[in-house]
Amino acid sequence: PAPTSAELIAASDAHSAHNYHPLPVVVASAEGAWMTDVEGRRYLDMLAGYSALNFGHGNRRLIDAATAQLERVTLTSRAFHHDRFAAFCTQLAELCGKEMVLPMNTGAEAVETAVKTARKWGYRVKGVPDGRARIVVARDNFHGRTTTIISFSTDEEARADYGPYTPGFDIVPYGDLDALRAAVTDDTVAVLLEPIQGEAGVLVPPPGYLAGVRELTRERNVLFMADEIQSGLGRTGRTFACEHEGVVPDVYVLGKALGGGVVPVSAVVADRSVLGVFKPGEHGSTFGGNPLACAVGLEVIAMLRTGEFQERATELGRHLHDELERMAGSGSGRVTGVRGRGLWAGVDIDPAFGTGREISEKLMGRGVLVKDTHGSTIRIAPPLVIGKEDLDWGLEQLRLVLEAQ
Ligand code: PLP
Repeated sequence: PAPTSAELIAASDAHSAHNYHPLPVVVASAEGAWMTDVEGRRYLDMLAGYSALNFGHGNRRLIDAATAQLERVTLTSRAFHHDRFAAFCTQLAELCGKEMVLPMNTGAEAVETAVKTARKWGYRVKGVPDGRARIVVARDNFHGRTTTIISFSTDEEARADYGPYTPGFDIVPYGDLDALRAAVTDDTVAVLLEPIQGEAGVLVPPPGYLAGVRELTRERNVLFMADEIQSGLGRTGRTFACEHEGVVPDVYVLGKALGGGVVPVSAVVADRSVLGVFKPGEHGSTFGGNPLACAVGLEVIAMLRTGEFQERATELGRHLHDELERMAGSGSGRVTGVRGRGLWAGVDIDPAFGTGREISEKLMGRGVLVKDTHGSTIRIAPPLVIGKEDLDWGLEQLRLVLEAQ
C-alpha cells in the first residue's frame, strides 16, 4: 500500500534536517488554488508558496511553456548562448522599465547579487574608497538565508551560531525616514528594502515613506534597491509594490513568482549605468538564466503584461481586506490587527486565543492552509487565480476558527 501522511512525515523527520516545521500535511497533487494530500483530502492553498504561486498550481500556460522547453533544451550553462535568453532579458527589462537583467535562481542569490552590484557600483561609479562601502537595510527585514544576508538580519533565530558576520551594513527602523537620513553617509552605496515587509508580518510602511526613500537616495547618490521578491509580480494589485507610491527604484530584486512556481528563477534588474559594472568572470551561476527558466519566465512576463492578474489581486484584495476588517471589528476581539495590500494580508490574533501556529493547525483541520509568522500573526496570500467563492469559503473557515470557544 502507498505510504500514509504519518509515515511520510516520520521518514522526513528521520532523514532531513529539521530546519523547517511544516504543517503536518503531505501534498500529492495540486491545481489552481487547491492541493490534495496523499489520503485524498483537499485543502485550499491560502499561502501560494510565499507568493511563488501567484498564477496558481498547474497553470496551463506555464506547464505548456515548461513542457515544450523540456523537449528542446534545458541547460547550456552560460558558457554558451541559448535561444531563449535574449527574449527573457529584453522582456523582463521592459516589464521593469529598465535596461538590463542579471538572472539568478533563488531569491537569496538575487539579493546577494544586488549587494555585490551595489558595492561594485559604489567603488567603480560613485568613487567610494575601496573596502568602505556600506548598505543601509531595515530592522525586521527578510532577504534570505545566506551568511551575508543573515549578517544584516535582526531575527536572532535566523542569525545565531552563524558568525562571523559580513560587515558593511547599517540597520535602521523600517518606515522611519529620519533614521534613514541619519544613517546615510558618503560611503553608503545602497538602501535595500522590502516595499512591504513580508516575513515581518506583511508590514506596509507609512504613506510617503517609499517616496521619501526615493528622494533621499537620489539626492545622496545612493542606489535604492527594492526587494520585490515577495511583494512584486502582481501580489499587491500592481506589478510592483513600489508603484503604489509612484516610486521607481534603481534596482528591482525579483524571484518567487518569476518562476511561476515551476522552477526557481530570480533576477536583478536595473539600468546599464548600474548593471554595466560587471565584466566577464566577475559574477555568475551555472543555472542562472537557463533555457527552462527563461521559457517559464517569459510566460510569466507575458501574463503580467496583460494586467489581468494585477486587476484580480486588486478586486479580490479589496474583498479580502473588507472581510478581515469585519472580523477585526466583530465582538470576539480575537483579531487585533490586519495589514496588507492587494491579495496579501497579515492578521494578528490575540495571543491569549492561540499562537499563529495553533490557528494554522486549526485551519488545516478545516481544509485551509496558511502559515504563521512571528508569534500570533498569520499570513494570507492565496494564488491570484483563486475563485471568489473559494476565497469566501476560506475566510469563513477562519471566522469559524476564531469564533470557536
Ligand atoms: N527576499 C524576500 C522579500 C523574501 O520574502 C524571500 C523569501 O521569502 C527572499 C528574499 C529569499 O528568497 P529565497 O527563499 O528564494 O532564497
